[in-house]
Amino acid sequence: MNNRRKLIAGNWKMNKTSADAVGLAQEIVAAVGKQNEVDVVVCPPFTAVEAVGRVLEGSEVRLGGQNMHHEASGAFTGEVSAPMLRAIFASYVILGHSERRTLFGETDEIVNRKVAAALRNQLRPIFCVGETLAEREAGSTLKVVQTQVERGLEGVSREQATSVVIAYEPVWAIGTGKVATTAQAQEVHAFIRGLLVKLFGEPVAQRIRILYGGSMKPANAPELLAQSDIDGGLIGGASLESRSFVELVNAALAAK
Ligand code: PEP
Repeated sequence: MNNRRKLIAGNWKMNKTSADAVGLAQEIVAAVGKQNEVDVVVCPPFTAVEAVGRVLEGSEVRLGGQNMHHEASGAFTGEVSAPMLRAIFASYVILGHSERRTLFGETDEIVNRKVAAALRNQLRPIFCVGETLAEREAGSTLKVVQTQVERGLEGVSREQATSVVIAYEPVWAIGTGKVATTAQAQEVHAFIRGLLVKLFGEPVAQRIRILYGGSMKPANAPELLAQSDIDGGLIGGASLESRSFVELVNAALAAK
């Protein structure tokens, strides 16, 4: 048993028009918007963040971005910044998602700058790490994850670290329907917790939430969420429908 509050975050990726996103957010608020025992976050595409934020007002559901630039403003066509997200009341931002790393060339250094910028602006980073299938098959999962965690969190202070949420997302499990076994996930989560102890000390490490991401669904969530170092989920596919997303929140409530 630990004191970490479970967190369920929905990553809607490049799905939903603003109108569709508002509809989904309304359903989520109606179902779980009043409970405050599990933290619930939705991360719509940028075109819908502000409109969804209005739906979330007065509820316990929090708003997140899916990415951001590390600079506050400037000539960065197509980008948005931490102050812009804060100005529309986002409180979380997903950083270093594997799709950003593989499709958009984000390196550990870039992700580290974004983590620092998020923390400077009172945004909680949902900082993603995880190995590819080739890396797992080569036996280098823990090494890969260690490098990503250490580089991504470089320069983060103990005080800042408690605002960080880590998402362990094996790349081979994202959107593939292949979920890591509970043993595979718990092994990596416990390993990450150990790294956090080395980086920030035991009391801080015990407060940092580590989410699992990768084909988490209502059917597999209870077992994953029962693991001692799995503090919630970052949900892609199953967050696009209120029914499955709400079931995941309920699974987290049952597991707390
Ligand atoms: C994700 O993209 O963060 C994710 C976990 O996706 P899915 O749940 O669809 O595997």
